[in-house]
Amino acid sequence: MGPYLSVVIPVYNEEPNLRELFARLQGVLDSCGESYELLFVDDGSHDRSAAILREFHAERPEHVRVIEFNANYGQHQAIIAAFERVRGEVVITLDADLQNPPEELPKLIDAVKQGHDVVGTYRRMRRDNFFRRWASRVINRVRERTTGIKMRDHGCMLRAYRREIIDHIVATREGATFIPALALNFAGNPTEIEVAHARRSAGSSKYRFYDLIRLNFDLMTGFSLVPLQIFTMLGMLVATFSGAFVFYLFIRRLVVGPEAQGVFTLFAILFFLVGMLILGLGIIGEYIGRIYLQVRNRPHFIIRAVHEQPEK
Ligand code: UDP
Ligand code: MG
Repeated sequence: MGPYLSVVIPVYNEEPNLRELFARLQGVLDSCGESYELLFVDDGSHDRSAAILREFHAERPEHVRVIEFNANYGQHQAIIAAFERVRGEVVITLDADLQNPPEELPKLIDAVKQGHDVVGTYRRMRRDNFFRRWASRVINRVRERTTGIKMRDHGCMLRAYRREIIDHIVATREGATFIPALALNFAGNPTEIEVAHARRSAGSSKYRFYDLIRLNFDLMTGFSLVPLQIFTMLGMLVATFSGAFVFYLFIRRLVVGPEAQGVFTLFAILFFLVGMLILGLGIIGEYIGRIYLQVRNRPHFIIRAVHEQPEK
């Protein structure tokens, strides 16, 4: 029989945070009375993270499992690798950088016990700079409108899921996807609770601004066809207007006779339309790219080693 709780933690160059994280997690979970496992995934760290995780396993082999990737495949792949192996009934994901205080775990467990199959979180007093807060508000709006996925705070990975949801996520075998959004797709009774959020205690954020844009683009194209539909609409609109314009020019030709003016206006309109065309092509390309990645079906990550005890 597996434990009640699986805590999944992706780790990429988190050497300065790991010991405190491990100590605090043990403190919280040992006193909460449920059986648990900690499932760390080393995402190809270049520092001593992997070695430290192996020490944790040696220290408490019955509680700690470690998966080591052979290279850096990204946070989401790390989480998926862990999802494929979890043994618990309830699964919680947690960042290793201590921005999500482990002390909040019991709150999530309580929400699951109340019958929620997906427990999202939003951060009280987010400790990020103003620009990041503002950007995520705008992006949230757009995402909600296009994908219908309602999430107050998609940057917070401290989340709990019932095991069935995890099994569905693993079964989709999608390459690039956003786990919290996918989980909401499958959720029957989701909820969101408020959690504390600390400043990163050491090390630096692994996400650059570009990655954040990519993530949101993935969200849009991964969960909705609206970007494509917008272009179909736009095409219809432009076709209607140019049809009317042609008709107008035809009448003018009959009434006024031949004329050649407004060349620059026409060029301006043309350049605008060519710009739209290229944008549309780019968006189609995004979708085709996703299809390509999916069809090619290469492994999303390679596991170098697993340190764990066999399931009881
Ligand atoms: N992470 C990972 N692989 C990566 C980047 C990040 O496993 O390629 C882990 C990282 O160690 C941390 C979590 O994902 O546990 C979130 O990363 P980070 O704190 O850098 O993201 P932010 O909080 O800035 O969104
Ligand atoms: Mg962080």
